[in-house]
Amino acid sequence: MKSFRKTKIICTAGPSTSSQEMLMKMYKAGMNAVRLNMSHGTHESHLEVINTVKSINRKVGDSIALILDTQGPEIRTGVLQSDLHISEGDVITVSVRLGDVEESSIHINYEDIINEVQIGEKITVDNGLINLQVLEKDHGTMKCRVIDGGTMKSKRHVNLPGVKVNLPSITDKDKADIEFGVRNKVDYIALSFVREAQDVLELRELLGPDGEGIKIISKIEDQEGVHNVEEIVEASDAVMVARGDLGIEISIEELPDVQRVIVGKCQEKGKRVIVATHLLESMIDNPIPTRAEVTDVSNAVYEEVDALMLSGETTIGKYPIRSIEHLDKIALKAESLTSLQIGKLLVKQDLKQHIAASAVELAESIDAKCLVVITKKGLMAQLTTNCRPAKTPIHAITFDSRIKRQLCLNRAVIGHLMEESEDPEQRIEEAFELLKQKRVLNPGDRVVLVSDVITTAGIDSIQLREIV
Ligand code: PEP
Repeated sequence: MKSFRKTKIICTAGPSTSSQEMLMKMYKAGMNAVRLNMSHGTHESHLEVINTVKSINRKVGDSIALILDTQGPEIRTGVLQSDLHISEGDVITVSVRLGDVEESSIHINYEDIINEVQIGEKITVDNGLINLQVLEKDHGTMKCRVIDGGTMKSKRHVNLPGVKVNLPSITDKDKADIEFGVRNKVDYIALSFVREAQDVLELRELLGPDGEGIKIISKIEDQEGVHNVEEIVEASDAVMVARGDLGIEISIEELPDVQRVIVGKCQEKGKRVIVATHLLESMIDNPIPTRAEVTDVSNAVYEEVDALMLSGETTIGKYPIRSIEHLDKIALKAESLTSLQIGKLLVKQDLKQHIAASAVELAESIDAKCLVVITKKGLMAQLTTNCRPAKTPIHAITFDSRIKRQLCLNRAVIGHLMEESEDPEQRIEEAFELLKQKRVLNPGDRVVLVSDVITTAGIDSIQLREIV
């Protein structure tokens, strides 16, 4: 039997990992959630993955969460007739009008770039690989000096570090993708380039009554998002430290500290937090990770994040399964070295949170077999995971399959689905019976039970129980 890993693993689905066979292997290797990246693929191809994951979920009891990740307001270069080789010191023309594009110039699909980027400022292409400096501006074109050259290909990602981009946070494409996600009942929507809390509120509004149960992950990927982190975390269910764009939009040496600040804010406010991008990047081509990658993953686990996310490693990589296996092993090792966190619990202390903290403290101090949380909407499970138990797993029993899937992103939580019986004591007995059937519990085990649905009056309670 595999060891229990508290940190969850999200895998982006891609061309090499969309089949039923592959997704099942990924699940068995330790995947907890699948991310659909709407920057690539079509609704048709994403629907195939959704249906495949749903069919696997029917076999494995809703143990994989589905995350739809929007493209957001992305700026890209245009289509080139052929690859363009540019070298340091070259001066090239950048145009925002398609008609003006000459053979040795590039097009950028964002007209306002001419007004917003100042002379001397930087345009970054292809995730930081190619860098240009603006020399002159005309009505629809700019002359730029190549600072870092390379081979420019079609439709490359463009970043304008430090520039307040005047594009809507939720584009028309995003709206169509969100509607697709609601229709197909995904569990989470990850919103790209969240710059302020208002972006999250706009998404909530868009989700409407049909998407009410969907949880929102805000991706923080630029300076404005970092600046407004407090209000964004408050408005969101979860936050992703999207280190790909963030590493370009802010100075790269600031990234480790920004990660620490965002993770800390989420823990303070009791929100889920995901660290994404370049975790095991070298495994796109290599069967083993670098020493630096192993250390980076371990540091994220020491920070006690809820989840780690793989992108290229599982979309186009040669070793998707091995990447998951490595992440699993590194996380398990790092977790075994972290200590009890109750003492430094930062979460804003409301009454329910205090109750969860007391339950965790009790379970840890008496070496309980596990914490059992019976939860209708997943809240008590979240409050329990907020306390970051060091050694006690949290078994969360819920009555709703979406809530169970959403719990796949909660650190240290293992979800279980059960029919909801009327009588509270019966609920407890059935929960223990289920955990006995699953060989989680045996007679004589001591567990700490915490719930707001185990008394008729719905009072939050903690009980110490011995399994019979
Ligand atoms: C990132 O930038 O790190 C990220 C996860 O976003 P995307 O892959 O959508 O660019």
